Amino acid sequence: MNYVALYRKYRPQIFDDVIGQDHIINTLRNQILKDKVSHAYLFTGTRGTGKTTTAKIFARAVNCSDAKQHNGNPCGKCAVCKDAGQANLDIIEMDAASNNGVDYARDIREKVQFPPINGKYKVYIIDEVHMLSQGAFNALLKTLEEPPAHALFILCTTEVHKIPATILSRCMRFDFRLVPTATLAEHIAKIYDKEGKKYEKEAVFSIAQAGEGSVRDSVSIADRCLSVSSGKLTYNDVLQVLGVSSKNSVSALCDAILDARVGDILTEINNAVNSGKDVARLSKDVSLYMRDLLMVKECANANAALCLPSDAYEKLVRTAEKITLKKLLYAIDVFVGLDSKLKYALSPLVTLEAAALKVACSSGEVDVDGLDKRITRLEQLPQNISAENQSVFIVDKRNAKSIWKGVKLSLSGKNMPLLSGVWSEVRVNFDQDNSFIVTAPKGAYMLIDMEYKQILLKEISKFCDNSVTFVCEEKISESDLDRQLKNLGRDVRFDTKK
Ligand SMILES: [Zn+2]
Repeated sequence: MNYVALYRKYRPQIFDDVIGQDHIINTLRNQILKDKVSHAYLFTGTRGTGKTTTAKIFARAVNCSDAKQHNGNPCGKCAVCKDAGQANLDIIEMDAASNNGVDYARDIREKVQFPPINGKYKVYIIDEVHMLSQGAFNALLKTLEEPPAHALFILCTTEVHKIPATILSRCMRFDFRLVPTATLAEHIAKIYDKEGKKYEKEAVFSIAQAGEGSVRDSVSIADRCLSVSSGKLTYNDVLQVLGVSSKNSVSALCDAILDARVGDILTEINNAVNSGKDVARLSKDVSLYMRDLLMVKECANANAALCLPSDAYEKLVRTAEKITLKKLLYAIDVFVGLDSKLKYALSPLVTLEAAALKVACSSGEVDVDGLDKRITRLEQLPQNISAENQSVFIVDKRNAKSIWKGVKLSLSGKNMPLLSGVWSEVRVNFDQDNSFIVTAPKGAYMLIDMEYKQILLKEISKFCDNSVTFVCEEKISESDLDRQLKNLGRDVRFDTKK
């Protein structure tokens, strides 16, 4: 006996069996129950979501003599239902991809005038209708404008934007949605149950995930899985069918990106691409993995939705713990945005590598684009910053603020982040004895006094010859000083000299 593909074997024969499109099925069913069938329908949506299947069921249901007693479903027993699928002359299926000419559309226009043989309607199901030529669309439009009472057109397409507005306005439009993963998983589980196949819950879920909303794709994967596993279908069997290293290489790449291991990032990307993986697909997989990490990091019971085997889930948890939320959001942002960039990229591979490195080298805390621009600007400066600034800024030696500005500029090129953190808290002036006074609140004073006093003294002396005094705004106790020293990690005791 020939092997019948699962997709064919379990193709829905009645509305009740169509999954994930309740909003459409209910409407069509009601139209049959209430005798309110239109003359033209447009079924649009991604491939594998059930457009043609639903069209075939609808075509039989409108002609079935007993549909109303079966809640709008074709009964499967009457003459019309039994004929369907074989030589039912009242249901004409055509593929616009192979018959797109004007002659074919004219032929339809003539033949549709002849009444149906068995049923009430003569049904035309036109698949991939966007492939019709302009002339064919025009001929079809004439038919749709004045259809005979017995004519019923069901136009199916994955690319609704290519259908002329004149045609669209004549049709009742139904948008087929991607089927949720959980619904697909349930569907596959039912098929395996009927086939007597044992399976792990995680295995079925990962098949559904790989199907990405398409019933046809996920059932086809389920079919391939049957051929690799003789006993109980495991999660690892499914991984093998989906491409041995597919999932592992994506997680290895993501780990390298998040750990900022530049060499590993480039190696992983090149390995994946060399083994035949599409760059756009790889980029998409990376964003999906990052999204899984986000769920694990932020949702209490993430595995209820992810449905991963415990070791794979534990691995995600460990990775998620290491990474900050900001960095993760940044990574998702970059990789999701990459999708459209890759379409126009001269070298998609280099574009992907650049994005991966950009994420790897960012902490997620800063705007890397802005930083890039700033670095470029700084690189274009002719000399080092302090020299440049000093040459531009001329210090007024009688003005305390001007001196202080000179000190700041002079130190700005040196790496002293702690000092630059307290600039705004410090005030300067000359007192009546012409001494240069640096006044700071307690915290800033202690930092200056313990860490930077000598540096500041040296810098100030470049701009003024007066004596320099550091003043604390508030009184400092010895215990304050001790605590501050401990905070700075010093084990030497500070000498409270005047
Ligand atoms: Zn019937």
